[in-house]
Amino acid sequence: MVLWFTENHSPTVRFSVKLEKQLFSGSSDFQKIEVFQTEEFGKILALDGLIMVTEKDEFIYHDMITHVPMATNPNIKKVLVIGAGDGGTIRELTRYDSIEQIDMVEIDELVVDVCKEYLPQTASKLDDPRVNLFFEDGLRYVRSKENEYDLIIVDSTDPFGPGEGLFTKEFYGNCYKALTDDGILVNQHESPFYEEDAAGMKKAHQRIIGYFPICHVYQVHIPTYPSGHWLFGFASKKYHPINDLDADSWNKLGIQTKYYNTDIHVGSFALPNYVKEQLKDV
Ligand code: SAM
Repeated sequence: MVLWFTENHSPTVRFSVKLEKQLFSGSSDFQKIEVFQTEEFGKILALDGLIMVTEKDEFIYHDMITHVPMATNPNIKKVLVIGAGDGGTIRELTRYDSIEQIDMVEIDELVVDVCKEYLPQTASKLDDPRVNLFFEDGLRYVRSKENEYDLIIVDSTDPFGPGEGLFTKEFYGNCYKALTDDGILVNQHESPFYEEDAAGMKKAHQRIIGYFPICHVYQVHIPTYPSGHWLFGFASKKYHPINDLDADSWNKLGIQTKYYNTDIHVGSFALPNYVKEQLKDV
């Protein structure tokens, strides 16, 4: 029998991937966790039936959520990562010798355990000595933080279930407070294409611009996410993602990447007109 993994990308659109086998299925207090082996995408991690990471295209998401802020401010030393249980964002951050401390706050310990066992491609650097793992709700964690982090990366699930709080006004306000005077916040910002995702994207943008003087959205192509067109938010107290990019300095670091380069850094902030219109409305 041929098995398929199917995800609803909108109420009337489905995306299916042919499976070779299921490697793991379990439930935590927060969500259903599954790992599949596929021919096209390698291993896939799905939470509550939604693809989070595939071995084939994870480099796009993790390069762009990490290297864009790191190339904008080369003096980032202390980073807070919220969510990110697969470890891909941590793997990219650990490539910078200049980073001294990475605090990762993941609500679901089982996601980390499962990824360590089945997805070493992304989870390989979770044991880096600079990484401190906290298993708690990111919404609660940031409440008590003040002027502490140079960079916060929100690598979360979508704005429902455990991830809902990470798209609220309260959360963005506390992130602002937790950041230093030149701090940067980058978050996964949903997709502009299908109506439901676009509504989440607009809400997030509207709430973030209420706090940060510099707010931009940048885009990436992720084949396994709904519509393939995904956005990240870049919010900052001081650094501008294009004007402050020092491409030569970043290129001198010699970090080898499969997707990110300093040209795509600049280009990813150029948005299609229909996305600009959506952001104008907020
Ligand atoms: N790249 C992915 C995407 O955009 O689909 C995100 C991957 S990562 C696996 C997302 C993680 O966020 C999950 O492991 C989930 O448990 C975690 N998460 C969701 N809500 C959270 C919260 N309130 N606090 C901390 N972590 C949370």
